[in-house]
Amino acid sequence: MVLAQPSLAGEMAMAAAGPPAWTPADSASLYGLDGWGDPYFSVNARGHVLVQPQGERGGSLDLVDLVQGLQGRNLSLPLLIRFDDILEDRLERLHAAFARAIAQYGYAGRYQGVFPVKCNQQRHVVEQLVESGRRWHFGLEAGSKAELLIALSLLDDPEALLICNGYKDQRYIETAILARRLGRQPVVVIEQADEVERIIRASQELGAAPFLGIRAKLSTRSTGRWGSSVGEKAKFGLSIPDVLATVEALRQADLLGDLKLLHFHVGSQINDIAVLKDALQEAGQIYLQLVRLGAPMGFLDVGGGLGIDYDGSRTATAASTNYSLQNYANDVVATVRECCEPHGIPLPTLVSESGRAIASHFSVLVFDVLGRSGVPGTVPPLQANEPLIVRNLRDTLAGITGLLEERGSEAIARSSDTTPAATLEAGDVPPLERLQEAWNDAIKFRDDALAAFRLGYLSLPERAMAEQLSWACAEAIAGQLPASGPIPEDLRALRAALASTYYANLSVFRSAPDTWAIDQLFPVMPIHRLNERPDRLGSFADLTCDSDGKLARFIDRGQVKPLLELHELKPGEPYWIGLFLAGAYQEVMGNLHNLFGSTDAVHIRLGAGGGYRVDHVVRGNTNAEVLEAMEHDPELLLERLRVASEAAIGRGDLRISEVRRLMDHLETSLRQTTYLQS
Ligand SMILES: *Cc1c(COP(=O)(O)O)cnc(C)c1O
Repeated sequence: MVLAQPSLAGEMAMAAAGPPAWTPADSASLYGLDGWGDPYFSVNARGHVLVQPQGERGGSLDLVDLVQGLQGRNLSLPLLIRFDDILEDRLERLHAAFARAIAQYGYAGRYQGVFPVKCNQQRHVVEQLVESGRRWHFGLEAGSKAELLIALSLLDDPEALLICNGYKDQRYIETAILARRLGRQPVVVIEQADEVERIIRASQELGAAPFLGIRAKLSTRSTGRWGSSVGEKAKFGLSIPDVLATVEALRQADLLGDLKLLHFHVGSQINDIAVLKDALQEAGQIYLQLVRLGAPMGFLDVGGGLGIDYDGSRTATAASTNYSLQNYANDVVATVRECCEPHGIPLPTLVSESGRAIASHFSVLVFDVLGRSGVPGTVPPLQANEPLIVRNLRDTLAGITGLLEERGSEAIARSSDTTPAATLEAGDVPPLERLQEAWNDAIKFRDDALAAFRLGYLSLPERAMAEQLSWACAEAIAGQLPASGPIPEDLRALRAALASTYYANLSVFRSAPDTWAIDQLFPVMPIHRLNERPDRLGSFADLTCDSDGKLARFIDRGQVKPLLELHELKPGEPYWIGLFLAGAYQEVMGNLHNLFGSTDAVHIRLGAGGGYRVDHVVRGNTNAEVLEAMEHDPELLLERLRVASEAAIGRGDLRISEVRRLMDHLETSLRQTTYLQS
């Protein structure tokens, strides 16, 4: 008895409080933050996203406070926040993982990575990586002439590698060869069979020895999106016969002594570690043969592909990986050692071109929600002579909520903590079945109403009533669905039918183009109110007038869900959403669709004594800039409107003060970013 009392009290407290309170931990679990966020993102007790830019080493920033602080500096949403500490931390983790693997496997060689510039060419990003990477002689990889220019100019460490990939014309090749005299360490990677000729000619003309590499086409295929970027049909790389012919051509030209590196790339975001192991074994054998053929070698470049666990599920699915950074490093080190050691050849310096793995975490896009579509929530008042079809819907609704109305306040008090069976009072029929029946009826009557409207038997206001009533049925049913336990497929669809579209101040084509182009998933979640139960389902529509401009696929621990749990908007309060792990590829792939330009961006550093420091502010494109990008002259556009306004004044259609207001709006818009101002 004594023991029973506290538990009884507990039960009573539970009953009074309704369902258990929603905690920040519930949000972390719901949005997968506890998986993909580690170690940089979590939720604090205030229900805000917390950023730990240096991982477990301490120092944290409340993302909501940060956004408010940045708004105070006249930066506006959507806002790209780059945490340079995270970028540095990623670099440290990558090097630490290889250092651990090298120690663990007693690898008699080194690791020396490069950053593929194509992953994020932003000046401050590349500069930061070069600066932070100095202590490891971290290098860069270029895939075009412009990227080569960036790399040549920024990379001033003579020991760092500058890997030159991509299509190369004579000028590209000569530039790379001559750069060696500048004190750089460029490696011209032969990717196409016909490049050999040009390289030989250039080095003979310049009388300069290049530093050469060969990219091999492996037969190992990756799974997923980038699976086809390797194998026989791959765009880049030499087939095995081409590798042999190239070695022969270099020998003839007396350049075989400059062949130092073997490179392969099995595609981005390798999901399955088994693919990497196969590729490493294959490449290891090719490396061995190249040494036997007389090339000095010394470097094995395993390319990119180190994946990101976007959904935190640690599975070999598209948005995840079944391995950790450490597993990756271990496999590279162990496999290469296994290949080379038995044959007594010196172990190569290991190079990786990890882009996604370095640049994804550091930037967070925060956007605001402008409003949401709602299902019409009100029940239209009863009309005299209501058409039968509308009556049917009204009766169906009454059937669902009828008990409440009949029993008055006592029933309302009860209904909040009883099951639908009590509410529906349906004898022996199980509650879910009753709900299912009611929903079937509602759909049938709604379809009848639409048919009747098409045939001219229903007026526009009557059709509106029918729509409102069918939505009200859906709402009433959804409100009675149990919070847990199996729900029939149809009723699940009902929840989805009631979902809202949240209007986002954002262009996915600009800020998250891969979500549109290749169905890439990024974690998306509110950055505040995480201590409130998100009781709506929704997806996002962006600002563009393009029906593809939406975020409607969300991470779901190894799966994908079409709707995200979101909060009801509060009048007068902002609702801020974060898009995470999108620091790689998105900025440069983003386009000007509908003339939405780049967003404001900031570089944030943890402050020495807590707090933060704004290192760089990169203003987003103004309307004038995006117009100019399309060859329009903003001044000329304004001038034409000025002339048209004068004519309107002359005709008496516009007052001078109105013209002034119009011109003022136009001029101000030209100076502002392309997004909606709050
Ligand atoms: C794109 C690319 C990379 C970067 O790949 P990630 O998967 O982002 O690491 C590396 N090397 C080459 C040759 C590439 O084309």
